[in-house]
Amino acid sequence: MSRQLVVFDFDWSMADQDTDRWVFEVNAPEIRRWMEDNEDKIQFTDMIAHALRDAHARGVTREQLEHALRIMPFHPAMVRAITNLKAVGNTTFFCLSNANSVYISLILKDKGLDSMFTEIVTNPAEWTPEGLLVLRRRVDPNGPQHTCKVGCSANMCKGDELEAFFTRHTPAYDRVVYVGDGSNDFCPALRLRSQDLLLCRTFGGLHKRIAKDGGLKCEVKYWTGAWEVEEVFKTLA
Ligand SMILES: [Mg+2]
Ligand SMILES: [Zn+2]
Repeated sequence: MSRQLVVFDFDWSMADQDTDRWVFEVNAPEIRRWMEDNEDKIQFTDMIAHALRDAHARGVTREQLEHALRIMPFHPAMVRAITNLKAVGNTTFFCLSNANSVYISLILKDKGLDSMFTEIVTNPAEWTPEGLLVLRRRVDPNGPQHTCKVGCSANMCKGDELEAFFTRHTPAYDRVVYVGDGSNDFCPALRLRSQDLLLCRTFGGLHKRIAKDGGLKCEVKYWTGAWEVEEVFKTLA
């Protein structure tokens, strides 16, 4: 039995929405509008941290944010796909996301998937006793910065994080399957080998970036709905 690793981006890859935007669409559309108008001006993680402080000041509660995460679209086929492949026994699951630890843990627990993931690497977040979610960049802005030239945001280089995971989990996996949609999934995709597989969602920055720049060594399969990921996962068992 070969050793296999499945790496999941979270927003629009494992989940059928974007946590950072959704919680404000549900609870504070005026803050969602502010994000839309400022996305190009502020580093994304810093912008979300600011939006969370703003929401808290306007009276949006921890319970309201948690409720929004629980009702966020998450396809049942994705739950089945992960659960069934995990049950076969030779696959490690790793979540690599630009969202945050609180959002991802809550949703994985809600879907019964929390025990499936060996590691979650994302931006750290924690609740204060007053119900403010304090979000920080994965790469501390006051410390050494990553040196990625592919275009990863300052908060995290997903390619570097993938390599670091490989270093923590030797020997090398026989096959790596990466599920992603965003432009920040292009950097880790470049690190995949010829025997690896990229499952690229058809809408989003990753598809566009592959079309524009290419250079991938791995096989690429395109998908739109989670039911298609479930089909592919059945062939990986
Ligand atoms: Mg994504
Ligand atoms: Zn990078």
